[in-house]
Amino acid sequence: MEEKDSNQNQHTEDEYEKICYICRRPESKAGPMVQMPGNMCLCHDCMQKSFDAVTKGGLDFSQISNMPFMNLNLSDLANMKIPDTAIPEKKRIKKKGKEETEPAFDIKDIPAPHKIKSSLDEYVIGQEKAKKAISVAVYNHYKRVFSKSHPEAGKEDVQIEKSNLLMIGPTGSGKTYLVKTLARLLDVPLAIADATALTEAGYIGDDIESVISKLLAEADNDVAKAERGIVFIDEIDKIAKKNNSNARDVSGESVQQELLKLLEGSMVEVPVGSNQKNALTPMATVNTDNILFICGGAFPDLENIIKERLNKTSSIGFKAQLKDRYDDDPNILSHVINKDLRAFGMIPEFLGRLPVAVTFQKLTRSMLVDILRQPKNAIVKQYIKLLAMDEVKLVFEEEALEWIADQAMERDTGARALRAVMEEFMLDIMFEVPKDPGIGTVVITREYLEKSGGPRIEMRG
Ligand code: ADP
Repeated sequence: MEEKDSNQNQHTEDEYEKICYICRRPESKAGPMVQMPGNMCLCHDCMQKSFDAVTKGGLDFSQISNMPFMNLNLSDLANMKIPDTAIPEKKRIKKKGKEETEPAFDIKDIPAPHKIKSSLDEYVIGQEKAKKAISVAVYNHYKRVFSKSHPEAGKEDVQIEKSNLLMIGPTGSGKTYLVKTLARLLDVPLAIADATALTEAGYIGDDIESVISKLLAEADNDVAKAERGIVFIDEIDKIAKKNNSNARDVSGESVQQELLKLLEGSMVEVPVGSNQKNALTPMATVNTDNILFICGGAFPDLENIIKERLNKTSSIGFKAQLKDRYDDDPNILSHVINKDLRAFGMIPEFLGRLPVAVTFQKLTRSMLVDILRQPKNAIVKQYIKLLAMDEVKLVFEEEALEWIADQAMERDTGARALRAVMEEFMLDIMFEVPKDPGIGTVVITREYLEKSGGPRIEMRG
């Protein structure tokens, strides 16, 4: 039995790279390792340096406190079990493995755009244009990845360009939710980063590579898997160029500049299992060429920039129209062009690397009602399921749902407010109902929500 266990361990150990005990580089970087007793590995460089130091008589290993196994006799080491914690699991790097030579995935594995969209429809309400654009962009992206991993498929010398996405839409309209759903459906790792936390390398804050480090962690430190993942950078509007400032713009324009190389594809060296680079953290090299980058933001004031441009062009010449024609257009964002984003403070090179821009609509009352009850994991469905476990039937009146949507509209944070509004009054129901086993049905009425009445209770007949 024990033997079987150790065989299994052996098998899983083979999947990880060996890491030099002194310089912490993995074998893919430092070359073949010399295996020492007690599971310790040393790279040739460090081995050589150690010998050089010893033969010159300059180094006494026993004096080095943070190399605990160096001051032991080698014959003692053979019998000694070095604790597994020597390299924590999250800092280990999966070997690139055989898959590299085999195709990463088959073109048939990528669902067609209409299939991606219909899966998204099950979770995301409305935003039809955005869902369609994203389905096509994702499909094309993975086709490109496929054609690169199959040289014979890309023989015709037509290079398919990367189609990173830019999502523009008000807060709580489903941008993050859409990306999360997408990554789950495609079964690829997803890292969500916040652009506001990013700063130019060398300044306080996360540097750009931390985004890739996160993705690698999501992919269980499997570099090949991470290289096919999705990175979502939220609040991208917050790194717009800051005008009228003489100070160095370490979290604005320079972050855009540094993101350029990630977006277009480059080799990035990232620490494994940590977001700090130091001598003790093993490093892995990730190629960002096949990673799909999606940037999202609310872009406040962009609407005014668009309006101003549209009003200017439409009020001149024969086609002159009413000056305030666009003032009440709820879909004003959908008229966005590159020029508007440049006026907002995004640099042209950055926009050039996000060729697909999709806009999200502000959610309307009827969309909010649908979000409450329609998606596969809708909030209403979740409460119904919870009470069904107590054999109680929960019903929401139509007007009650509309009331909840109205309240959420007032808070102006999109669908995000729905859960909070709902929880306020469902707490009492969830607390009281299980007390009385006689209750068969609970109907949530508008009067109950408005506090002018109670829920309608029907006892078991
Ligand atoms: P943002 O656009 O600010 O990234 P989120 O995607 O984080 O907004 O939305 C917050 C929550 O609201 C999501 O977790 C999701 O449950 C819900 N939600 C928002 N928009 C939709 C939508 N169109 N369909 C279904 N649920 C949505």
